[in-house]
Amino acid sequence: MKIAIIGAGIGGLSAALALHGHELYIFEKRSTFEPLGTGIGIGSNAMQALDSIGLADWVQEYGHPLALQKFLDTKGRVLKTIDFGEFKRRYGQENITIHRGDLHQVLYDACPKINLTFNKKCISVHQQNNKVHVCFDDGSSDHFDLLIAADGIYSKIRQTIYPHITPKYAGYTCWRGIAKQPAGLKQHTSVEVWGTGKRFGYAPLTNGSFYWFACINARQNDIFYQNLSQREVAYLFSDFPTEVQDLVHSTPDGAFLHHDLYDISPPNSYVDGHIVLLGDAAHATTPNMGQGAGQAIEDAVTLGSLINTYPLDEALEHYNKARVSHTKKVVRVSRQIGKLSQLTSPLLSNGRNVLTPFIPSRLLFWRLKFLFEK
Ligand SMILES: Cc1cc2nc3c(=O)[nH]c(=O)nc-3n(C[C@H](O)[C@H](O)[C@H](O)COP(=O)(O)OP(=O)(O)OC[C@H]3O[C@@H](n4cnc5c(N)ncnc54)[C@H](O)[C@@H]3O)c2cc1C
Repeated sequence: MKIAIIGAGIGGLSAALALHGHELYIFEKRSTFEPLGTGIGIGSNAMQALDSIGLADWVQEYGHPLALQKFLDTKGRVLKTIDFGEFKRRYGQENITIHRGDLHQVLYDACPKINLTFNKKCISVHQQNNKVHVCFDDGSSDHFDLLIAADGIYSKIRQTIYPHITPKYAGYTCWRGIAKQPAGLKQHTSVEVWGTGKRFGYAPLTNGSFYWFACINARQNDIFYQNLSQREVAYLFSDFPTEVQDLVHSTPDGAFLHHDLYDISPPNSYVDGHIVLLGDAAHATTPNMGQGAGQAIEDAVTLGSLINTYPLDEALEHYNKARVSHTKKVVRVSRQIGKLSQLTSPLLSNGRNVLTPFIPSRLLFWRLKFLFEK
């Protein structure tokens, strides 16, 4: 089969690695490979998927295993601890953190690059006689038996099929950074501090550095927040434990990012004829569960394995069954976690912090179990 993949992000490259024995073409609008971003979490569910395409060990070399996740209040008191060891014992893979750029680089290095073309932006698609016709911004076009749309949250291809689905602002804006070797933080523990209308999280990466994020409730595209310096962001969190300000202050300028956060309400089908949506193009989610990249990898591995096994139309039908309700649930649960962790009312956020220690760990584990159910 002649297959086009639009987008050489984590989802698109994973799809290329999961497909065998086809004529594959990857098209990327950027002019060159750029390993961008800060740290991301890769759960043991996604590590299982990477393992099935022979990449888990390689990714783990660049990653950092996490043993625990702790939730604290602004006084530094522990509200809840999640033991990732339980996931490793049950599912055989670590939960890791990794620089997004390193994960992207591993996939890029492992990929059959021969048919990867940069500077090639897909501008339109249409289908006729079981072929997908793709047009690019350089005036060229081509036909394919299958088109995999891995072109991210602002997917041009999803917009063509589902024009009513547009990115939805989560209600909070986010700064991210990587701090160089801050002193005194635990090497295998990620932490989230929950305040009122704001939250700060950090987790270790390799080489002693830590990535962090700071979220605060805000209007969309608020110019005030867009223009804050590191010092001013640290000041917004001055009622949080001191390590929070230390992390922001010890972040080099180039490793300090700011974005409003968005997700989408995923469609009821990721398949339209011989076009299939994958990763953020299908189900971009808020980062509250650390599952954006992981779900893109799972989509890719599932799709690859189905296409390698079944006739195309059957494979696409199975892909929809396997991925749509699962990833919708990820988007939904992640939104709920965002609402709970960003509560604006002091009364409600205090109530949340009082009640959280009483939530049985078994209940949290049960809530996350669906991530592993295939
Ligand atoms: C620059 C960047 C930085 C990020 N940083 C973080 C981070 O620090 N932490 C985190 O948790 N998540 C981050 N994410 C999100 C996370 O990486 C994604 O949720 C996840 O990896 C899903 O990947 P994807 O391949 O579906 O989409 P993406 O990673 O968005 O990849 C989509 C790719 O498609 C390309 N593309 C888009 N439109 C077209 C077109 N019309 N024609 C051709 N190519 C096209 C894009 O250039 C991009 O390379 C980041 C995403 C990006 C793009």
